[in-house]
Amino acid sequence: MSSLFPTYKRKHIELQKGSGTIVFDQNNKRYLDFTSGIAVTSLGHCHPEVVKALKEQSERIWHTSNLFEIQQQELLAETLVNQTNLDAAFFCNSGAEANEAAIKLAKKFTKRNKIITFKNSFHGRTFGSMSATGQQKIKEGYGPLLSEFIHLPWNDRQQLKNTVDSDTAAIMMEVIQGEGGVKVADPSFYKEVQEMCKQHDILLIIDEVQTGIGRTGKRYAYEHFDLDPDIVTLAKGLGNGFPIGAMLGKSKLKEAFGPGSHGTTFGGNPLACAVSQTVLNIIFSDNFLSEVKRKGIDFINRLVDSLMKLPFVNEIRGEGLLIGIECDQAAELIKALEENGLLTVPAGEKVIRLLPPLTVTDEELETALRIINEAFNNIYTKAI
Ligand SMILES: *Cc1c(COP(=O)(O)O)cnc(C)c1O
Repeated sequence: MSSLFPTYKRKHIELQKGSGTIVFDQNNKRYLDFTSGIAVTSLGHCHPEVVKALKEQSERIWHTSNLFEIQQQELLAETLVNQTNLDAAFFCNSGAEANEAAIKLAKKFTKRNKIITFKNSFHGRTFGSMSATGQQKIKEGYGPLLSEFIHLPWNDRQQLKNTVDSDTAAIMMEVIQGEGGVKVADPSFYKEVQEMCKQHDILLIIDEVQTGIGRTGKRYAYEHFDLDPDIVTLAKGLGNGFPIGAMLGKSKLKEAFGPGSHGTTFGGNPLACAVSQTVLNIIFSDNFLSEVKRKGIDFINRLVDSLMKLPFVNEIRGEGLLIGIECDQAAELIKALEENGLLTVPAGEKVIRLLPPLTVTDEELETALRIINEAFNNIYTKAI
């Protein structure tokens, strides 16, 4: 009998060690990890430079409190906002916390009451971020939630246009809905969002918790659509598994987040920042992201070539190395892939999500493709 709250229905697999894309379970079975701890371990498991950064900082100082200056935090903030229209960072410990900070800041700065988010979105599990989330199953039993949020259909320009008004504080969205099924909208939809924000002086909050830090082949996914966010939230890939989150914002917002307005005990401590700095030094280095882009395009094309001819495969979509295969029997296929040594994650009911580390090799992608083809073809032959 487990002494844990049963908030997760766990697989009977314990991953005990890993290196790069490869992990081993308690029976020493080897897998290719195309979950990356849900878009977290983007440099693979136990990346030597990240391990080194953790070790070195752990022998210097771990935690001091935000009552003191922290050089690692200053440097990390600079690295994150560099080459963006954003100017400042607030560090915390998770995606939900980053979104919580964004919601508070948007309300305080605009003094307006409404925040528009989208159906099927996922923004986290705290009261604010859960209220923002556009999925009923996440909120079951917790009402009444914050009344600020209006959930509009994703990719519907007209409804958006009809809903924004002078009491709208912010539009908050993922560029690609991750948990909701790797859903990309039409370019015209992003354009409309941007237009509405400019026209009505509404803050644009982009939740890059899953898509940020190189996952889609650019530093931030909003760059694909030329968006100009006022606030960006980050977490998952930011620390390669060391817990850290961040909210980035434009300088005009600084005045609303003065001393005492928001805070955290752990957020941005020297240990987390030293690890994250090393992660960014690698992911933001020359050619790293163009490789992610190349691998993503190549892999998606090859998946399309081999799977789209199967009648139960509906769509293959994504950007960079955030990839979704929409198909019937997704759960059964995920199980089959796992048995054959490839770990993947579901997104929604019908989507198999592939999230290899950004450092995945061409050979590993090749092996994954072979395992995927076998599993899909087996299911197909069984069905006919
Ligand atoms: C995972 C996720 C979150 C929540 O992050 P936590 O660190 O689990 O709190 C928020 N937004 C998006 C888009 C996510 O994918």
